[in-house]
Amino acid sequence: MGRIQLKQVRKAFGEVEVIPPLDLEINDGEFVVFVGPSGCGKSTLLRLIAGLEDVSSGVIEIDGADATMVPPSKRGLAMVFQSYALYPHMSVRKNIAFPLRMAKLDKAEQDRRVNAAAEVLNLGPYLDRRPGQLSGGQRQRVAIGRAIVREPAAFLFDEPLSNLDAALRVGMRLEISELHERLETTMIYVTHDQVEAMTMADKIVVLQAGNIEQVGSPLTLYREPRNLFVAGFIGSPKMNLLTGPEAEKRGAKTIGIRPEHITPSSSGGDWAGKVGVSEHLGSDTFFHVHLEGREEPMTVRAVGEVDLHHGDPIWLTPEEEHIHRFDAAGLRIA
Ligand code: ADP
Ligand code: MG
Repeated sequence: MGRIQLKQVRKAFGEVEVIPPLDLEINDGEFVVFVGPSGCGKSTLLRLIAGLEDVSSGVIEIDGADATMVPPSKRGLAMVFQSYALYPHMSVRKNIAFPLRMAKLDKAEQDRRVNAAAEVLNLGPYLDRRPGQLSGGQRQRVAIGRAIVREPAAFLFDEPLSNLDAALRVGMRLEISELHERLETTMIYVTHDQVEAMTMADKIVVLQAGNIEQVGSPLTLYREPRNLFVAGFIGSPKMNLLTGPEAEKRGAKTIGIRPEHITPSSSGGDWAGKVGVSEHLGSDTFFHVHLEGREEPMTVRAVGEVDLHHGDPIWLTPEEEHIHRFDAAGLRIA
């Protein structure tokens, strides 16, 4: 079981409030991602759940029981950090078994759990190696193994892939998702990378300055961002935002349109402009278009390769049904 509820949880360091009172519900078996810019309070929130920080006020319940004052080791949660914190002089087997030795589990049970974790993580052939003889990805798997053997009610990950290079991150991302499918255990995963959030989460919690800006599935956030912050944060390349007459005539202070919801044409359309920089990815082409009277370029996606060059005239037509409308306070207009 791994149901976690935060009720009016608040955290201040001295006079500085980094988490204003917030409510959050994490269901058993869910993969929840906390995402937001650096310094927004993601790690603090995770550490509050883990018990590594005390709440300033509010209640944390785990499986319906008040865990607010329960020490970290008794919460039944396992944390995986960005730095693997492995013991260099111990074998992989001993590193993974470490929490079980500390808990004085009998040897047969230790072996059973270590072997099961090694199997899930494909670490079988490496059990007798030292961490120094492993790649970065394998070391991260050992750190995850050490969490798995504890059979926790929930796994807490704090930016576990930040030390890995780009290709390895994509691989590990898939492995962790696969692990979640297999174990069906609650996972809370912290990242500043919205692509990680979008690809891994059942439920994303978008944070800014300690506030929850929106909670929802990846596609809900993508299709119906609650406000301008979420609209700008989720999606890559970013949603284009426009103010002025184009927004006003659609009854909004600001409108947003994603790069894939704009049709470009070299013969005519709603908005006239000139092609700026193009990014050729092979599968897609992203090009930046300078509209008359607008400083920031619009980003437009075309599928495949398109024959457009810097300075060419171009017209853009937004798909009206995909235009997002926001009021003066930056909130989505339904
Ligand atoms: P994130 O993980 O989203 O980057 P953190 O949770 O680490 O953000 O930090 C949130 C805010 O709390 C930051 O402004 C940070 O400086 C502050 N903070 C974190 N830990 C402490 C601490 N122990 N003492 C004082 N301020 C802290
Ligand atoms: Mg952090």
